[in-house]
Amino acid sequence: MGRAKGALKNAFWEPEAERLSPKRIKEVQNERLRGLVRRVYEGSAFYRKLLRERGIGPDSIRSIEDLEKLPFTTKEDLRDNYPFGLLAVPFSKVVRIHTSSGTTGNPTVVAYSRRDLEIWANCIARCLTMTGVTPEDVFQVILGYGLFTGGLGFHYGAELIGAKVLPSSTGGTKRQVKLMKDFGVTAFTSIPSYALYLGETAIEMGINPQKDLRVKTISCGAEPWSEGTRDKLEDLFGCMVFNSYGLSEVGGPGVAFECIAQDGLHVWSDHFLIEVIDPKTGEALPPGEEGELVITTLSREAMPLIRYRTRDIAMILDDDVCECGRAHRRISWIKGRTDDMIKIRGVNVFPSQIEHVLMRMPGVGNNYQIVVEKKGHMDELKVRIEVTGDIFKGELKDLVELRERISSELENALGLRLTVELAEPGSLPRAEGKAVRVLDRRPER
Ligand code: ADP
Ligand code: ZN
Repeated sequence: MGRAKGALKNAFWEPEAERLSPKRIKEVQNERLRGLVRRVYEGSAFYRKLLRERGIGPDSIRSIEDLEKLPFTTKEDLRDNYPFGLLAVPFSKVVRIHTSSGTTGNPTVVAYSRRDLEIWANCIARCLTMTGVTPEDVFQVILGYGLFTGGLGFHYGAELIGAKVLPSSTGGTKRQVKLMKDFGVTAFTSIPSYALYLGETAIEMGINPQKDLRVKTISCGAEPWSEGTRDKLEDLFGCMVFNSYGLSEVGGPGVAFECIAQDGLHVWSDHFLIEVIDPKTGEALPPGEEGELVITTLSREAMPLIRYRTRDIAMILDDDVCECGRAHRRISWIKGRTDDMIKIRGVNVFPSQIEHVLMRMPGVGNNYQIVVEKKGHMDELKVRIEVTGDIFKGELKDLVELRERISSELENALGLRLTVELAEPGSLPRAEGKAVRVLDRRPER
């Protein structure tokens, strides 16, 4: 693997906050949680009503041990109170408004005070510094600018560090690669499926990403992906690639990020309090058990959220200090959203499980698509998979053995019979935004 284009150093943007001891983190959380409850009680009609209904006063919550007394906030609450019903400050204090991408329905709104923007930029600056970005870097932001939180979020964080920021946004893939080469880009952030597309476009253009580009650190997020895809990207660009997690409802990217230990994503625990719950019962689950991530924003002013049910599936990792020196809570990679789960003949499947198997197999290319159909009364699962350029010699039917191997690996992993269809390199649709992995052609259920 050609990952070492200058080894990355473990560095800190806000050393004091990032190196808080586990005990201090808890104290900061207790204090900020108390402050949060008081703030929403005063400032938010929505939360005042919700808390009163549960007999919770502005001083009822003493510490994070009381967290379970607090009600959840859901995506429906945000949609029902569209656009500004969850503001906890006067409208005059709002200086920026974003929305979510609307992947699963109407986009939700998020508002920021000036201080919210400052904290957001600092969180991103922490993430980038942690993954080796410095003022010396030329940093390309290959994420949508505009209402989507990705572009502007990374932009201001990278600028705060003092990196040379290239706001190239999304689209125009060849132009992106040309900029990367001409400007000597050393770091970039994008959606993972798009990063693969950038790499393959570079090769098509006769540019060897490892030799002709200078990229030494990449962060990817905004959609479910797998460590196999990370390996592919690291091999493609010859540098380390980091997982970036966030969601607009709690501010955008910069909520959780991998460090150079690549052993889980650190949640900035002085700003975000994280729980994992059983999505059916709402009960808190211990570290190591997979469930729905629930996030409480400890420092947001304009639109703080209490116990926000993200619908994202992950687990909290064991509670120890990471080798990077940070005690900020770590979570696993995100398996997907509860909404992504496909039920096939009674078996629950996440696209990321399929990706996990595929991306580790030799011969499997950069893209896949999942098609679900109804044949008679039966659900049928078909996975279309691009093969790599080096094994494709013009005829897919020569690759029977590969198809059978993929089929049996997938069937073993999922416990489901399915059909594998091979596709030529570069033939499946690429998205400029979040990849669309599933075509569910079953009639409305
Ligand atoms: P939308 O929820 O409409 O797509 P956002 O742009 O706010 O709008 O996207 C946030 C969502 O994207 C998260 O809730 C999560 O489902 C997904 N996401 C973000 N980062 C990651 C990541 N690193 N891994 C998996 N999923 C992610
Ligand atoms: Zn770490």
